[in-house]
Amino acid sequence: MPALHNLIIIGSGPAGLTAAIYSARAALEPLVLAGEPSSTGDQPGGQLMLTTDVENFPGFPKGIMGPELMANFRSQAERFGAKFETTKVTSVDLSQRPFKIWTDRPHDGEADYEAKSIIVSTGAKSVMLGLDNETELIGRGVSTCATCDGFFFKDQEIAVIGGGDSAIEEATFLTKFASKVTIIHRRDELRASKIMQERAFANDKIEFLWDSEVHAINGTEQLESIDVVNNKTQEKSTLAVTGLFIAIGHRPNTDLFKGQLDTNDKGYLLTNSPATSTNVAGVFACGDVQDETYRQAITAAGSGCSAAIDAERWLEDQHDA
Ligand code: NAP
Repeated sequence: MPALHNLIIIGSGPAGLTAAIYSARAALEPLVLAGEPSSTGDQPGGQLMLTTDVENFPGFPKGIMGPELMANFRSQAERFGAKFETTKVTSVDLSQRPFKIWTDRPHDGEADYEAKSIIVSTGAKSVMLGLDNETELIGRGVSTCATCDGFFFKDQEIAVIGGGDSAIEEATFLTKFASKVTIIHRRDELRASKIMQERAFANDKIEFLWDSEVHAINGTEQLESIDVVNNKTQEKSTLAVTGLFIAIGHRPNTDLFKGQLDTNDKGYLLTNSPATSTNVAGVFACGDVQDETYRQAITAAGSGCSAAIDAERWLEDQHDA
């Protein structure tokens, strides 16, 4: 029989680790299933593990490296007794309590873990182009977050890929820093809302490359240029840019919970906001997996705190009952 835990936290980004700090300090002895790195972008520690300087997380006036920040979160949680396992959850059964969790470890079918309550903080992934060099150059010119990294591109020429609201919003924001922003879109019309389009068209720092796709990202230590092809004329060109912002959408990591936890039409978990409870009593969600709007480390951490408090109160109510 697997051991029964009060609280299992699935995911170890800012949301999960903040939930771990708060629930450990509430003596719940949480177990964090931290995930395993994978070629499909799974990342224990979350998306900050893929960034370099983080300058907008309060409390670090000189900034801090993403991986160092996450190591600090983790050691703070461990200090209060949170336990960690580096393992990938492959399935869950939330249909009855205690909840059951299976991992990719070899087993005979019996669940690996049982939990009275679960906090889901599995995060989201930026959709990437799938080109060579793309992941290696994240934090070295390639970025998926203008709010986080725009500041590093003062007076530089950069490109943004995508034609949706994110791409246009990021491009417009980036003109505060960059000398020129080229939006590269695979069609000849934008998907973004009209008002955002008009704002971008009126901005003389923004140029558009229509019907165009990036087919190579060049550079070793730092991004140096990108190769672009016009998908109508097949004409090829090279754009010397020091920054490349990929804004072609996000995908929440919710496959694991399909059919068990309610999601919106884009797959983000639905919570009873402002509470973090889901449609299954005893299961809570925090961080990017339930946040389509803000997607910041600090908002994820804040919701992780809420989830820990909600889980603690729910467990107390169960005990009282
Ligand atoms: P999105 O609306 O799905 O747009 C993704 C864009 O990326 C599309 O233009 C798409 O091209 C392009 N794209 C997708 N895959 C690509 C690929 N492999 N190569 C090149 N281009 C590719 O995603 P989003 O912009 O992240 O927005 C997501 C949601 O959040 C939307 O509902 C949006 O309205 C909302 N949002 C709102 C705001 C705001 O109101 N302030 C800001 C950001 C996001 P096609 O057009 O050809 O499909």
